[in-house]
Amino acid sequence: MDTPENEAHAFHWLMDMLESVEVGLVVLDLDYRVEVWNGFMESHSAMTGSSIHGKVLFDVFPDIPKNWLTRKVEAVAMLNTRTFTSWEQRPYLFRFRNTRPITGTQAFMFQNLTISPLAGSDGSVQKICLMVYDVTDIATSRLALEKANAQLEKLSMTDRLTGLMNRGTWENLIDAEFERNRRYGNSVTLVMFDIDHFKPVNDTNGHLAGDEVIKFTANVLMENLRQSDYAGRYGGEEFGIILPETDAPGALTICERIRQAIANSTVNTSGADIRYTVSIGIAPLTDNPENYMQWLQQADEALYAAKKNGRNKVVVHEQAP
Ligand code: GH3
Ligand code: MG
Ligand code: MG
Repeated sequence: MDTPENEAHAFHWLMDMLESVEVGLVVLDLDYRVEVWNGFMESHSAMTGSSIHGKVLFDVFPDIPKNWLTRKVEAVAMLNTRTFTSWEQRPYLFRFRNTRPITGTQAFMFQNLTISPLAGSDGSVQKICLMVYDVTDIATSRLALEKANAQLEKLSMTDRLTGLMNRGTWENLIDAEFERNRRYGNSVTLVMFDIDHFKPVNDTNGHLAGDEVIKFTANVLMENLRQSDYAGRYGGEEFGIILPETDAPGALTICERIRQAIANSTVNTSGADIRYTVSIGIAPLTDNPENYMQWLQQADEALYAAKKNGRNKVVVHEQAP
């Protein structure tokens, strides 16, 4: 028999079960006063059910995003349908400390949330039930995976010694800039350069000192380029730069600055203070190359001319008449 007394018993019996379940359970009236606050909520909030009973949720937890929650709850009450939000949309509703030992890297518990309407016997919504799921483990491993993927992606694009783009990434960009020029006709200039007499630097001072010189060269590049320029490590001690929206005179100015900065510097390695120079070839993009590889070839020819003319020089590629 469904007497009110039996119903009340069944309710308490159910509540005993829900009390111990590993999910947060909160029942609110439509004024956001707390009616049910189960054991999970007690142990994570340090608020007992009796101390919070009858209080307005937002008064006890001023951190809760009030506008967001009331919008959700109003929709649930009006449509008489449940809604679900995941930690990816909002990491948590209740700011609970993360107590898991393994996922201790996260300061707070990540939560999924279900908001359900509770209808009275006449079918109208009278209460709202919040179910709070601790998804810290899932969120932590997902975030760790995303971080690892981002690092891997960056690593696969970057030269390890200098932090510049590696050859593959840089060449893809030359190709893209070449195609952009062919479509829009914007000016763009390619630069190749190579350290002069680098073999003796290695032979005299050792490979590690040589590496220091390569790193120093990359730093000079980064200091002298704009955000929109692309520098890459093309080979051992060969570098390339793409200078978008730059014509030959503009590129010459930038490259002279780089050449002089290097020629006037000393690299202090543990073994020796090293002075060195670079040779630079410049190829503004003209109608002439048919693909990006021919364009690259032109920059390389200019670089070869700079070497032949005595090194520590900047040479602009001459268009064949
Ligand atoms: P040139 O003026 O004609 O360029 O003379 P060079 O001695 O610099 O000749 P080249 O450019 O052919 O020399 C490249 C040298 O760079 C050979 C190689 O031992 C050295 N090298 C290549 N990659 C690395 C690297 O990652 N670290 C170090 N330390 N040396 C490298
Ligand atoms: Mg070389
Ligand atoms: Mg060299």
